[in-house]
Formats: sequence, C-alpha cells, structure tokens
Amino acid sequence: MSNFDFCVLGSGSSGNCSLLRVNNNWVMIDAGFSMKQTKERMRTHNICLEDVRDVVVTHFDRDHFNPVWCNTFLQHGIRVHVHELHVGRARGAGLDEQCIVPFTTSITMHNASVETVRFVHDALGTIGFIFDTGALRFGFATDLGRVPQELLDRFVNLDGIAFESNYDPIMQEESSRPESLKSRIMDGGGHLSNEQSIAAICHIASESSLQHIVLLHLSRQCNSPRIIQDLYLENVPHLREQLTITCQDRCSRLLCIHKDSILSS
Ligand SMILES: [Zn+2]
Repeated sequence: MSNFDFCVLGSGSSGNCSLLRVNNNWVMIDAGFSMKQTKERMRTHNICLEDVRDVVVTHFDRDHFNPVWCNTFLQHGIRVHVHELHVGRARGAGLDEQCIVPFTTSITMHNASVETVRFVHDALGTIGFIFDTGALRFGFATDLGRVPQELLDRFVNLDGIAFESNYDPIMQEESSRPESLKSRIMDGGGHLSNEQSIAAICHIASESSLQHIVLLHLSRQCNSPRIIQDLYLENVPHLREQLTITCQDRCSRLLCIHKDSILSS
C-alpha cells in the first residue's frame, strides 16, 4: 500500500523545507535552510540526506533555496526539478546544469505524477504541486499572492494538503513594517492572509477528503498560531482535528496520509 509521510522541517521567511515520502522515496520540497539545520531536523524523524533523490523547488527566493546546497546536490546526484521559468534563477544561484531537471506542467517520479500549478508571487511566480500516486493525492502551495480559480479547480480529491497561512491582517496593518512592505505582501502578489487561506482550504476540503491540513509560512511578526486556532474553531470546527500549524524553528511531527481502509477492504 502506498502511503504519504510528510513533515515540515521548518517554514517561514527565514527558511522553508519539507519532506514527502512518495512510494517509499523521500522528496524534498524547497531547500531553504543551511545544511547543518536541515540534517539536524531530518534526524528528528531518522531521515538521512542519502534517502533524498529528488528536490522540487517552489521558487528561488533565498528562504526557499539556499545556494549552499548546490555542491551537495551535484555530489549526491540529486535531481532538482525546476520550472522552466526559474531555470535562470537556478543557474544564478549556482546550481549545476547536471542537477537541473526543468519542467513545465508536470513531473513524473517514483511511479507518481506531480501536477504543477503556477501562482502569482513577486516577479517570476511560484509553483504549487499535486503529488498523485493513483491512490492518494497531496497538494502543496505556498507564497501565493492570491488564490486563483485554477488552484480551486485543480486542488480537488486531495487526501492531504500543505498550504500557506501567512498573516493576520490587523497585525499586519498595525505592525511597524514600512508601508511598501505591507503592500507588497497584501496587494495580491505576495502572501495569503489567514482569512484567504481558510476560505481556500474550506473550499478544497469540500471537494476532498483531507486527513491532514498543514499550515505553512506563518509570519513571526504578524501572525500567531492562537489566532489561527480561533479562526478554525469559529469558522470550520470540523477541520480542527486535521490541523497542524508549522513554525520556523522546529520540525513538525511526521504525518501519515493513508488510503482509507474501507476502500482497501
Ligand atoms: Zn517564502
């Protein structure tokens, strides 16, 4: 039986890295931490770098791709799947041509297909992924400027999801951040508020059977897990049990997404 195992090593504006086990192969999603931090956090769940054969990159901002990895990926023969629009950024970060596997709309790996969706975010956009083994589907999306209809159309029939929930609008407005930064985040080309995130997840949940909902990229300055928990309690109490809120400084627990035993019996 093919399960997904998933953990977030850490998520936020200082670094992002997650691991998804697809048909018994670990795939790294983003590589935004130092090697030391990454390896230490991987040890939490007894995962070694040697277990990772593939990396998929949402985009090449420094918090999602740390150039310190370039040599290691080359030495270990790790394939780095890069959207064709991001190949220039990947080369610019120092990633060797040998490591770069460009994609446009989908990737095939480990007997699974990975559908990709492009989102607005800063200049080159960011990429969302739907990992599909045929039996299970897992969606991953972070650093979205807004939730496009295409996301809602394609993030369907999911068994698990990891999704951005970046800021509380009141905390953002009241923060001491420069107005230019606030508008970059909130103007539709930056990040999703908790409200935008929960609205999307609510819609996705109605067309899926989500075993886990993992929230990513919380702003340390303009968000808090408490606010999010209260929002879920007030608006979608039926989804609270599935919720995992990740943070910047430590690894999440290891989550297992499995096929419903009813279907396999
Ligand atoms: Zn980011």
